[in-house]
Amino acid sequence: MADVRYGSLAAPGSVNEDYLVAGPTWAFVLDGATAPAGVDSGCRHDVRWLVEHLAAHLAVPLTLGTSAPLTDVLADAIAATRGDHEATCDLDNPDSPSSTVAILRRRGNAVDHLVLADSAVVLDIGGDVRCVTDDRLDHLPSYTPDVVAAHRNRPGGFWVASTSLDAPYEAITGSSPASDVRRAAVVTDGVMRYVELLGLGDWADLLDDLGFEGPYGVIARIRAAEEARFGTDPRGPTGKRIKKHDDATAAYVLMEHT
Ligand SMILES: [Zn+2]
Repeated sequence: MADVRYGSLAAPGSVNEDYLVAGPTWAFVLDGATAPAGVDSGCRHDVRWLVEHLAAHLAVPLTLGTSAPLTDVLADAIAATRGDHEATCDLDNPDSPSSTVAILRRRGNAVDHLVLADSAVVLDIGGDVRCVTDDRLDHLPSYTPDVVAAHRNRPGGFWVASTSLDAPYEAITGSSPASDVRRAAVVTDGVMRYVELLGLGDWADLLDDLGFEGPYGVIARIRAAEEARFGTDPRGPTGKRIKKHDDATAAYVLMEHT
């Protein structure tokens, strides 16, 4: 693609459950979801294990330059990850570890994207900046552990990368002519906070800042804004308690047009 810069930082004092891999023509981010305390996931592995295995199985075909649809690439990665623990874990358990996915890939004269759950792809197409998100997790009837589990990877609910081979085909996908894409980013929700929770700017400002300051500069500014806003009272706009800090990950891509 061209100039790819990336950064990933755990929330202070925690294990980073985000993951990022980038190559010359592609980049993706994953954000592992922590099961509620006391819930039996049926899996002996932790969320970090899940994102590492999913990342490894996504990175191989992308490195080898596959032109298969990103839905198929993700389905194959989930199938391979299933194979890594089907002998030891109950893969039918609806609380099995899971992850969001956001992938960007240059494929000849096209730039493909795929978004599953609450990570995002930000695209600058001829100066028009848009954020591709999947907001189905925002529309559940309630957020008790039972309700979330009952809606996970089910029609009418929300979809994440876990054990379901149907989930990739529910992702938000699209392609843009490569000649129209100036720059782009893949980000986890810890970086989406820049726009959505902290109001540091819009999506175009985020791309500008990722370009000027680099991902770690942007993440440092997000951390400072979180400290100022939530340092003494970690409540979001609706009054609900939120995480003061979150794992934050971004890859910024400046497209090369030769
Ligand atoms: Zn397992």
